[in-house]
Amino acid sequence: MNRTITLFNTMGRAEVPFQSIEPGKVRLYTCGPTVYNYAHIGNLRTYVSEDLLRRMLSYFGYEVNHVMNVTDVGHLTSDADTGEDKMTVGARREGKTVWEIARFYEKAFFDDIRALNILMPTTVARATEHIPAMIEIVQRLIDRGYAYEAGGNVYFSVDRFADYGSLAALQLEELQAGARVDVDPNKRNPLDFVLWFTESKFPDQEMKWNSPFGRGFPGWHIECSAIASQYLGEHVDIHCGGSDHIPVHHTNEIAQSEAAFGHKWVNYWFHTEFLIMKEGKMSKSAGGFLTLAALAEMGFSPDDYRYFCLQAHYRSPLQFTWEALKGAQTALANLRNLYTGWLEEPGAGASDVPDSSNGSTALGPEETSTEVSEEERSYSEAFDSAIAADLNVPLALGVVWKMAKDPGLSAATKRSLLSRFDRVLGLGVDKWQRAELPEELKRLLDERQAARARRDYATADELRARLAAAGVEIMDTPSGTKWQYNPKR
Ligand code: AMP
Ligand code: ZN
Repeated sequence: MNRTITLFNTMGRAEVPFQSIEPGKVRLYTCGPTVYNYAHIGNLRTYVSEDLLRRMLSYFGYEVNHVMNVTDVGHLTSDADTGEDKMTVGARREGKTVWEIARFYEKAFFDDIRALNILMPTTVARATEHIPAMIEIVQRLIDRGYAYEAGGNVYFSVDRFADYGSLAALQLEELQAGARVDVDPNKRNPLDFVLWFTESKFPDQEMKWNSPFGRGFPGWHIECSAIASQYLGEHVDIHCGGSDHIPVHHTNEIAQSEAAFGHKWVNYWFHTEFLIMKEGKMSKSAGGFLTLAALAEMGFSPDDYRYFCLQAHYRSPLQFTWEALKGAQTALANLRNLYTGWLEEPGAGASDVPDSSNGSTALGPEETSTEVSEEERSYSEAFDSAIAADLNVPLALGVVWKMAKDPGLSAATKRSLLSRFDRVLGLGVDKWQRAELPEELKRLLDERQAARARRDYATADELRARLAAAGVEIMDTPSGTKWQYNPKR
């Protein structure tokens, strides 16, 4: 950990050197999905950039304890405590129970996560399995005079918390001006937020638990404070989420956590800017959003989308267009072709390529001991300094391409550099080696070659789709057909 990492901290709005609470260890919390529908590619952009952050920290030698919640209760259709529970809306839409909805979309979410080569959190925690921890914090807030009961619900009193709104860099009056007009009459201040709802507010709520405040269910924000403190303690290094979480969700998380714990809670706030469509922001509740499955229907793999995300800095809004995704797909295919070419060069055996599939166990750069040339060192240095400077992945990608096209480097050096860089990029270059194909898939590949030879392109395309579904990606290049096999994880 010789290198200084800087991160832009939303709290204070400045890029600052990162220092962990415990030497060599990072306590990382990322807000997880609300599982009432598929994740859209905007949500997934945020998870990709959080994965890059985690991989970067591991790459520089930190042991990262990564905790993510799953919101399977408590998130209302409006962040301002109005509307219905999102799970109830999902259940009605599909004629299922809220529990079925929650489990189905949770599985779909983690399938997407794995498909995008995003490392699984050290701990995934469902809100519904942490109700006692939430009740305990709500009770502490009542005991300390930060929360009050009214109309059957428990509310956090923002006037009692002096720093309320500091994350959003807004004054209380400005936040109040933005608060909804048809505000819950039980609230003393329109910005007060619900910690615990009782059945009095939602008679048709299926998910309910007994509590000292009445039978009901928790507010959305309290789950993150309870889950983070249960697994990471009451002092967290980095807390992540999309930029929409700044003014409400994270502002409220800070207020209730610091009021309950009596001290500063999170050192660094890391927010990813939105993926936007030409028509405006992509949102689940507005409908009409794109999923990984929708991209697949148009012929794009999760890797293509991951590469697309790598091209923009996490703090810049990223506009989605099909043309830009196509550009990413082509660039990635070119990189793969180059890499496969390096593997085939004499002396570039595949066996010594390190496994880059899990960034958390990879060695940090300072721990690799083999002799390196001056050129190799200088590319490594350029890459490392790019990612250490507030995770500048687009700049790092520029280094990758410069290196890949450098005629002065040997294939073995290029291969080893890309494998190392991929611990952060997570494109899965280790999978790009020529893997053995199962017999059945070999046969399909041969059939496709035969179809192409007789110019039966319809059959060739159909076989390509069947192979793709089985994890075989095909590239027809001037030097013949190449393929990559990624057995379904
Ligand atoms: P949700 O499942 O709605 O709780 O959102 C999951 C994550 O996606 C949160 O961190 C949100 O801040 C983030 N998010 C929501 N919409 C977008 C978007 N269009 N672009 C990037 N991140 C988003
Ligand atoms: Zn959260």
